Amino acid sequence: MTNMPMTLQEVRSAMKGLISPLRRYADLLVADGAAIQPGQELVVNAPAEAVDFTRMVVRAAYERGAGHVTVIWNDDQVARMEYENCPVEHFDTTPSWRIEQLNSLAEAGAAFLYLEGEDPCALAGIDPAKPACARRARNRDCHVFRHGMDFGINAWSIGGVSTKAWAKTVYPEYSEDEAVYRLWLAILDVARATGIDPHSTWETHNATFEKNKRLLNEGRFDHLRYRSSNGTDLTVGMTRGHVWEGGAARTVGGVSFFPNIPTEEVFTSPDRMRADGVVHSALPLVHAGRVVRDFWFRFEGGAVVDFDAAEGRDVLEQIVATDENACRLGEVALVSKNTPIRQSGLLFYSTLYDENASCHLALGTGFPECLEGGEEMSVEELLAHGVNHSHTHVDFMVGSDDLDVTGVREDGTEVPIFVSGQWAWE
Ligand code: ZN
Repeated sequence: MTNMPMTLQEVRSAMKGLISPLRRYADLLVADGAAIQPGQELVVNAPAEAVDFTRMVVRAAYERGAGHVTVIWNDDQVARMEYENCPVEHFDTTPSWRIEQLNSLAEAGAAFLYLEGEDPCALAGIDPAKPACARRARNRDCHVFRHGMDFGINAWSIGGVSTKAWAKTVYPEYSEDEAVYRLWLAILDVARATGIDPHSTWETHNATFEKNKRLLNEGRFDHLRYRSSNGTDLTVGMTRGHVWEGGAARTVGGVSFFPNIPTEEVFTSPDRMRADGVVHSALPLVHAGRVVRDFWFRFEGGAVVDFDAAEGRDVLEQIVATDENACRLGEVALVSKNTPIRQSGLLFYSTLYDENASCHLALGTGFPECLEGGEEMSVEELLAHGVNHSHTHVDFMVGSDDLDVTGVREDGTEVPIFVSGQWAWE
């Protein structure tokens, strides 16, 4: 690929050439992501800037038989002004009309599609307490909506849309128009949406998930051992009854949907009390508008006891101190280095993409669905079974090119899971 800058004319005609692929991508998000059913309500959350693509999504939804489509527009700059001008108390409660909106749509059985094109630096310098407060209030007040998403009642999906500020962050060397075009190309590519029939591509993709999940779940490992030449030497304990998840999810009504497009990870929640050793980062961590580079954590008895970074150490400090369980692991995820995202070599400054570039771990809250019977348990019961609970969940990438991951059973049997950064059975 050439890196010669394009003229505005060239960008415009190249964008025209993307109309058909973008329509197929819109249909993929609606049909396979949110898995719209005939007569069903679809709720689309979209950046106002992405109006053209959002219209394609709405059209695709009606073509797939949606009963009605509701679009909820958002805008980074308006959100920023709200955080700048309203006191923190304002974010303690959710307006009643918003509660009614989200709860009634969830109750009506709507599917939710989130189009993400956030400027990674939109909230730089904003007191993080405000967005955190707003999120907490929404999760508490919009209980029916939250419950519907967390417990498989409503299908939901997140997909990316190219926007100017985001594109310029990923491609600072290009003009705004060209950056937007290039980011679209990357989004389509890593979403496996460039072919003529993305649906069948995703069917094949999901078959790989099923195989990897089956092999891991049948393995019933007691712990995983991570080793890499970068200094990583970490043991992560698994809970009894842990379940590996990934690829398509299923609603209680039996509808199969993809919560994330793209997705490459197979993941579970480890035992919050059993992580020991050192793990080094393989890729930078982007958090709250900041970048942390070349960092490591040392764990003892499941908790971070020491850490350092070549850049952004204070960000790690903040994350670990969020609450009493933020220093413990909530997720282990396995991602092969042979994926379009990793091979793109791009840093997207967005968790949706970057967490799918590499094996990762996450500090903070774990997933109830990653424990047998976990979805029926209270937070206290989950904690007692080893599934972490926290107000944060921060993924960081540890999948270096030579990473080996070995599964160790209770009787000491060892099974190679990852060899040199890819599935041992790939
Ligand atoms: Zn993950």
